Amino acid sequence: MTDHHTDAAGLYARHRAVLPEWLSLLYDRPIELTHGEGRHVWDSDGNRYLDFFGGILTTMTAHALPEVTKAVAEQAGRIIHTSTLYLSRPMVELAERIAALSGIPDARVFFTTSGTEANDAALLLSTAYRRSNQILAMRNSYHGRSFSAVGITGNQSWSPTSLSPLQTLWVHGGVRSRGPFAHLSDAQYIEACVADLEDVLQQTSGGVAALIAEPVQGVGGFTAPPDGLYAAFREVLAERGILWISDEVQTGWGRTGDHFWGWQAHAASGPPDLLTFAKGIGNGMSIGGVVARAEVMNCLSANSISTFGGSPVTMAAGLANLTHLLEHDLQGNARRVGGLLIERLRAVCAGLDVVREVRGRGLMIGIELVDPGTDEPSPRAAAAVTEAARERGLLIGKGGLNGAALRIAPPLSLTVAEAEEGADLLADALQEAQKRLA
Ligand code: PLP
Repeated sequence: MTDHHTDAAGLYARHRAVLPEWLSLLYDRPIELTHGEGRHVWDSDGNRYLDFFGGILTTMTAHALPEVTKAVAEQAGRIIHTSTLYLSRPMVELAERIAALSGIPDARVFFTTSGTEANDAALLLSTAYRRSNQILAMRNSYHGRSFSAVGITGNQSWSPTSLSPLQTLWVHGGVRSRGPFAHLSDAQYIEACVADLEDVLQQTSGGVAALIAEPVQGVGGFTAPPDGLYAAFREVLAERGILWISDEVQTGWGRTGDHFWGWQAHAASGPPDLLTFAKGIGNGMSIGGVVARAEVMNCLSANSISTFGGSPVTMAAGLANLTHLLEHDLQGNARRVGGLLIERLRAVCAGLDVVREVRGRGLMIGIELVDPGTDEPSPRAAAAVTEAARERGLLIGKGGLNGAALRIAPPLSLTVAEAEEGADLLADALQEAQKRLA
């Protein structure tokens, strides 16, 4: 490929002149990615990077996966869009496959074009079904940027407005390593979170519609609660008829290695009542959606469509991508290579004062940073490491509670050699940043 543009600086100036200031870009000198292949991407200056962030977990299998490119081109060559007013073979086929994989009995699937719309739809369905606008969400959670999704977000820094169409209460359980329950064992932690949930429920009047939770908090910094937490929550919720929405926008499709869906780490409770998905399924094409059992999905009486949800080109990409994922057991790869990667990262981070914790599941790994010699979360360390990694040819994400976490989520086809190379580049970047901060 030779499609190199130049002058990223000029493009940045034009970007700033016409796009919102809050549309955040990574890096002091933002880069323009022009093409990708496998686990690598190239920028407009010709620099090659190992991609440890996969376009924010959207490049699920690999960049430029030939099967997806072919499926998109073939579908686009036939017809790009037909709308949900007509029968669509790729939409029915992808819905059948997702319904079967979801674990939800008698499942129905509604396609959207993003994760936030998927959550919006889940909130609409659960509030309509339960005839209540009260929602429980997790502290430090993130569910998207549409009006209802920002309203339930459990951290002010990701929630640009305090206005909301929903009445939301937040419960403990998303982040454990800091906060009042940090010192507890897994069993004690679950007990404490259940007591908190019961306490919060005491403050509600009338029925609560649903609890929405990410099995591993994504924007929150890749923090995983102990297995079984949501099973314990579910007992409390089910007694009261409250629905459980599992936001699998980041954790779906085998990303967490041991399980296809994040909720399965809590399997004793069975599947959630509603499951939302997006990000990786289209390998970069805009697909989101919600799965719910028929009784919940069909509780709306008014007709409703999403003009672009389920668009044939995106569905064709999703089908090709899902087939590749399953045929190549990329969930198994996430478990194996993710396991090696986290071990290696723990080893290289062991002697570094700037690292507080390396955590995660499968190929969803978070590294929490502190100001060296303290326990203070360090967003400046996260920024410095992200820059130093880029200088070394490695793209990673940052974020998390206090903006102090590094987020690592490569395409699920990552090889052992690439995992080792990336861990070494990151170790070097961490050392460099630690020196710069000293
Ligand atoms: N839910 C979770 C868990 C997310 O991480 C995100 C985005 O990062 C969303 C929902 C929103 O998805 P989208 O950006 O596609 O609207």
